[in-house]
Amino acid sequence: MTEQKRMYIVANWKLNPASLSDAKTLLSGTKEVAKKAKGVTAIVCPPSLFISPLRELYRKSTTFFIGAQNMYAEDTGAFTGEISIPMLKSVSVNHVIIGHSERRGMGETDEDVAKKVSRAVNAGFTVILCIGEWERDEQGSYLGVVEQQIKTALSKVTYTGLSQVLLAYEPVWAIGKGSGSALDAHGVHQMVLYIRKVLKDMYKKNSVLSTPVLYGGSVDAENAEALMREGEVSGLLVGGKSLSVKSFGDILLAASKVTTS
Ligand code: PEP
Repeated sequence: MTEQKRMYIVANWKLNPASLSDAKTLLSGTKEVAKKAKGVTAIVCPPSLFISPLRELYRKSTTFFIGAQNMYAEDTGAFTGEISIPMLKSVSVNHVIIGHSERRGMGETDEDVAKKVSRAVNAGFTVILCIGEWERDEQGSYLGVVEQQIKTALSKVTYTGLSQVLLAYEPVWAIGKGSGSALDAHGVHQMVLYIRKVLKDMYKKNSVLSTPVLYGGSVDAENAEALMREGEVSGLLVGGKSLSVKSFGDILLAASKVTTS
């Protein structure tokens, strides 16, 4: 029998929705469904402008969190447009996505990611660290790309600090492509095993094998259950489908089903 575990479902709203009022509606609907999803931790990451007003909408919970889509590694200074760890902490936000491929595509390097991850972990944050190859080649060099991303991103994170990290494997070629474009569950499982092997090489302890590994890339209500069950991930990172209460709710409920059966 497979061990029952908690599922982490992360919503990345990206640059959506267009208004605070729509964001409030989306958040309250999402929160209602999340209540029914036993065994599931939901982390909703809205645009930074909406974090504070949304955070004020509900009481503190241990299974539902507002997170940030990104943060800057410095606490203060001349960094136009950025948000810092102290700013997030001041509005009771302790979860952050780091290294999303869309940020990497705007110039964020593995070293930038490493600095952010280490600062966030040291500040007590839970980090959703995104890794994933841009493309797949038949020779398997994408495995080396993922290994390098993990090793650099976690280079300053201790064994203890690793317990604050959720790894989100997101093959970039599968992100935002819509139904039927996700990596299949077997492929996801292969990558989960590979990522665990990389962690074991780095930290030399068997316990790192239980570090949660999530999958992201064109997840929807149809493929979510198979990805979690057969892919043996500890959760999902959801972009497009997190913008509808119905589709995100179905993904949350699928995760709950996986934890309870
Ligand atoms: C993402 O934003 O990380 C993502 C996985 O998006 P989508 O679910 O739309 O592919």
